[in-house]
Amino acid sequence: MENRKCVRCLMREMAEQAGEYINLQQYLDQIDAQERTPEELYENRLSTCKECDMLLAGMCRHCGCYVELRAAVEKQSCPVRKW
Ligand code: SF4
Repeated sequence: MENRKCVRCLMREMAEQAGEYINLQQYLDQIDAQERTPEELYENRLSTCKECDMLLAGMCRHCGCYVELRAAVEKQSCPVRKW
């Protein structure tokens, strides 16, 4: 795979970010089940991010967070209220 940043990609889609994604997955696995976003809602949130101009290589340029982390906590929201 080419070594370039993928606009509108999630961490899980970028092979060159594999190490960071493993860390991200470990963090996701530690989220308390009561705080965790239900799977269908989580995927809907990530789909919205993938259509958003503010997504760059898994990171939201509005808030600077990895969207896969932010979206995984149910009480969190998009900084511009897209979800
Ligand atoms: S969190 Fe909101 S602003 Fe950021 S990439 Fe996702 S949809 Fe866009």
